[in-house]
Amino acid sequence: MSVEKIPYKIYLEESEMPTAWYNLRADMKNKPAPLLDPKTHKPMTAADLEGVFCEELVKQELDDTTPYFEIPEEIRNFYKMYRPSPLVRAYCLEEKLGTPAKIYYKFEGNNTSGSHKLNSAIAQAYYSKKQGLKGVTTETGAGQWGTALSMACSYFGLDCRVHMVKCSYEQKPFRREVMRTYGATVSPSPSMDTEVGRKILAEHPGTSGSLGCAISEAVEVATTTEGYRYVLGSVLNQVMLHQSVIGLEAKTAMDKYGIKPDIIIGCAGGGSNLGGLIAPFMGEMIRGEAEYKFIAVEPSSCPSFTRGTFAYDYCDTGMVCPLSKMCTLGSSFIPAANHSGGLRYHGMSSTLSQLYHDGLMDAISVKQTEVFAAAEYFARVEGTLPAPESSHAIKAAIDEAIRCKETGEEKTILFGLTGTGYFDMMSYEKFHNGTMTDYVPTDEEIAVNIAKLPHVEE
Ligand SMILES: *Cc1c(COP(=O)(O)O)cnc(C)c1O
Repeated sequence: MSVEKIPYKIYLEESEMPTAWYNLRADMKNKPAPLLDPKTHKPMTAADLEGVFCEELVKQELDDTTPYFEIPEEIRNFYKMYRPSPLVRAYCLEEKLGTPAKIYYKFEGNNTSGSHKLNSAIAQAYYSKKQGLKGVTTETGAGQWGTALSMACSYFGLDCRVHMVKCSYEQKPFRREVMRTYGATVSPSPSMDTEVGRKILAEHPGTSGSLGCAISEAVEVATTTEGYRYVLGSVLNQVMLHQSVIGLEAKTAMDKYGIKPDIIIGCAGGGSNLGGLIAPFMGEMIRGEAEYKFIAVEPSSCPSFTRGTFAYDYCDTGMVCPLSKMCTLGSSFIPAANHSGGLRYHGMSSTLSQLYHDGLMDAISVKQTEVFAAAEYFARVEGTLPAPESSHAIKAAIDEAIRCKETGEEKTILFGLTGTGYFDMMSYEKFHNGTMTDYVPTDEEIAVNIAKLPHVEE
C-alpha cells in the first residue's frame, strides 16, 4: 500500500464503519473524577441523574469500565445518511505552505446541521425516544447544537425546546430558522419564562446571555415538565463517547493506507470533537502501543485549559447542575462580547481535563484574528469554508506544518475540521472589515472568577 499514492479523500465502505463507540475512560489509569451533587457534594448516583437525563445516557455517563458500547442499528442507519465523513489529504495546503509535513483533516461539516454535533444528537434523541419521553430541552450558543438536535428530534418524532443564548438568537436568525424548520421551539436566554432566567435578569439586566445561563434554564424546564429530559451537546462523557465515531473512522481510514499520525489536533470548546477524534489514538498511547502528540486548541479569550484551574466547578451559571472536576475559568466567567469564534464555554470535559492534568495532552490558545486569517487562507487553498471553531485547529495545524518546513521533519498531522462556516459570515464580515479585535482576559479577571469556585473537600 505504501507505494500507492494516497487519495485526496479516503472514504470507508459502509461495512467498514464503526459498529461500537469507544469509551476511552475504560483505558484511563486515572479516571475522571465523579460528578458531585451541587448541594451535598456527594457523588451523583444514577438515580440522582435520571431526573435530568434519560436512563441509558446516565448509564453511559457513569460507566468508566466498559470499553465499547454497541451503536444501535437505528443510529447506524442514520449515520449512513451522512457518514462516513471524508478524511481529506490536504495536498493543496501542503504545497502552498511548501512543507514536508503530510496534513490530513477529518471533515464533519458535510451534513445540514453543519457540524460534528449531529453524531451525538441522534444518539441522545434515540435513547430519549426509546424511553418513551415526549421531548427534550437544551441550550445552544452559536446554534450548531440546537440545529443538530432539532434534526435528530424530528427524525425520531420528539419535541425539542431550545434555549438559545440571546446574542446569538438576535444575531443568527438563519440558525434559528433552520431549527424551526425541523420543528423545534427556540427561545432567547435568559428569559422571563424560568425562575433562574428571572433571577439572572434581575442581577444582570440587559445581559446578552451565556451558555451557562441557557443550560440553567433548559435544566429547569426539563425537570419541571413531565415527560421531558435535558440533553447537552458537549462536555459530558456520553457526548465524547458518541463522538468517538470521528476518531474510529479516521483511524480505520488511516490504517487502510498504513498512515500513522504523529500530531493530532482539535479545537476545544467543551472537548467533544477533540475527545472523539483522539479517543482511539489516546487509548493506544495509554496502553503503551503507540506514541502521539495531542494538541487542544482554544481561544485566548476563553482559555480553560491554558489559564484555567483544575478543580470542581459548576457546569452552569445558575449552579443547578452537578459539579464537575475540570479545567475551568469559573462558572461566572463570561467571554468578552467581541469574541466571535465560538468555543465560549467556561469549563471543559472532565475526561480531557484529567488527560491534560496527567500530561498526556498539550493545549495552546490562539487569538481570534489569527484564527480568521488561517480560516481565510484555508478556504482559498483547500476550497472548504471552515467554521470559526474548526479554524482554531487549522491555525495550529498550519503552524505545526510551518515548523516542519523549518526543521525539515516529515511529520504527519491530523486535525479535526468540525464544521462549515456558512452560518458565521457575520464574523467573517467583521474580520474582512477590520473591526474584529482580540481580547485576552487579564490575570485579575481570571482570578476574580476562580475565587468563586465552590469549596469541595477531596
Ligand atoms: C460546538 C462546536 C465545536 C466545539 O465543541 P466541542 O464539544 O469542543 O467539540 C467545535 N466546532 C464546531 C463546528 C462546533 O459546532
